Amino acid sequence: MAEMKPGAILRRTAILALAQGAMLACAVAEENLPRADAGRLESRIVELGHFGANPEGGVSRVAFSDADIAGREYVKSLMRGAGLEVRVDTAGNIIGRRDGDEPGLPTIMTGSHIDSVPKGGNYDGDAGVLGAIEVAELLRAHAIATRHPFEFVVFTDEEGGTVGSQAMAGRLPASAFDVVSHSGLTIGDGIRALGGDPARIVEARRPQGSLAAFVELHIEQGAILAESGIDLGVVEGIVGIRWWDVTVEGVANHAGTTPMDRRRDALVTAAELALAANRIASTTPGTQVATVGRISAEPGAPNVIPGRVTMSLEIRDLDAGKMESVFRAVEAEARRIAAARGTSIHFDEVELALTPAPTDERLRVVVESAAASLGLSYRRMPSGAGHDAQDMAHVAPMGMIFVPSQGGISHAPQEYTTPADLANGVDVLLRTLLAIDRGALGAGQPAARASD
Ligand SMILES: [Zn+2]
Repeated sequence: MAEMKPGAILRRTAILALAQGAMLACAVAEENLPRADAGRLESRIVELGHFGANPEGGVSRVAFSDADIAGREYVKSLMRGAGLEVRVDTAGNIIGRRDGDEPGLPTIMTGSHIDSVPKGGNYDGDAGVLGAIEVAELLRAHAIATRHPFEFVVFTDEEGGTVGSQAMAGRLPASAFDVVSHSGLTIGDGIRALGGDPARIVEARRPQGSLAAFVELHIEQGAILAESGIDLGVVEGIVGIRWWDVTVEGVANHAGTTPMDRRRDALVTAAELALAANRIASTTPGTQVATVGRISAEPGAPNVIPGRVTMSLEIRDLDAGKMESVFRAVEAEARRIAAARGTSIHFDEVELALTPAPTDERLRVVVESAAASLGLSYRRMPSGAGHDAQDMAHVAPMGMIFVPSQGGISHAPQEYTTPADLANGVDVLLRTLLAIDRGALGAGQPAARASD
């Protein structure tokens, strides 16, 4: 689709119309596709925001809470209104389905989540769910038929660890069911409260090949787009995360009687290590980030030289190899610092690592092409936050579209995306999904090849 000239689109349209009995999908040329209704989107953001509303603004609609359950009923009613057939899978995911015209083709899926963090905002997740429903509204209102079935999803408990999408990818460990969520319910009981069934969780799994693509519209949750005045982010992927518990061993001693040149100070060592991690992540070319976010010194008294420090180290990047090389550099620097300070530094990796989830390059191009066709500005960028899309990348070609977050604020009541920005995101989502439907991803899409 990226290289397609207007003439080619028209020619393909004619061929498809001929081949498929003048299906309406094919009669809608790119430039005539409908535009999202920004006012409808905004009013639905406001209406969904009533479920779990906080007096200071925003919502506390944690997964499995009464507010979550009521909000889900509201979303189901919107889905039905948009002509979708609604069901809840065994993981509690809400799925609104719209059939395609060609039997046997895999599903094209889009969606996000409506659960929030405690004291969260009205756009994280909601934008992608209500944006997806807006796509369904436009398809229905303009009688646009598609070849593939489309599914519009609300994933269960994203904020508690992308529970619904992990189940869909067949990657939710059984141990997750016993974890107590913010609602007070275990995740297992929570899934039951949503109409799912943890005992039959495997039925929620979507095998590889059953989805043609998954695309998620989401707010950026950072300030890059809003500050640079760019309409849209083409997400390159969701960064991987590695954590380490770091232990620094020195010698605790009297703070008054130990001369400065005789100290083996664990906290001074740790301070140098934190600076080194920051320097390495800052000066290595790329977008990697490294953070020391927790530190504690023992014995922790003003008059004792710290003998032991425990601290955290976190590294994120899109490239697993890059994360490893940044860590190796930090480790080498740690050896040098420890030798100079007469201390020791030990790194213990915490088994919570998230592997990077790159988006599909073909989908990035499709999203860019859709944005360009609408005259929108865009840039490629990584997502530093986790999303359901990272799990769906294990099942299908995955893409993500970011819209600007005003002030870069997220997980807070001030979270805000303008109706116009949100509508732009939906317009690009609609065009992206329809391009996939017409064969933009290539493989096994004979109809698209006819015009190439
Ligand atoms: Zn989210």
